Amino acid sequence: MAVLISSTYIHKYSHTHIPTYIYTHIHTYICNIRSYLYRFKIIETPICPCSTTIQTTDHLLFECELLNKERDNLISIVLQTEVWLISKDKLVRKHFKIFAKFTNEISFDNLNKV
Ligand SMILES: [Zn+2]
Repeated sequence: MAVLISSTYIHKYSHTHIPTYIYTHIHTYICNIRSYLYRFKIIETPICPCSTTIQTTDHLLFECELLNKERDNLISIVLQTEVWLISKDKLVRKHFKIFAKFTNEISFDNLNKV
């Protein structure tokens, strides 16, 4: 997994002053996403099982039909204090607890069946 840490996305976060537990959580999340697994030749295709779209962090967070239920929970909590759509950065910084809950609810075993 050492090679994955050098990805651009992680790199971006490593320069911001966020607590280690948030950094670790994001790192784990990203390392399970198909576009990254594909990039490092761990799987054969980056396409999400829901469609013909490449499975990226944005796809899972904002688009993937397989996560509609989990996303509804996320949106309903964010809407108590913000408007949706919210930026990924703001979501992580201001609403980390609910972001963590959302990502923890994702079953990567199901999403990453090849
Ligand atoms: Zn999808």
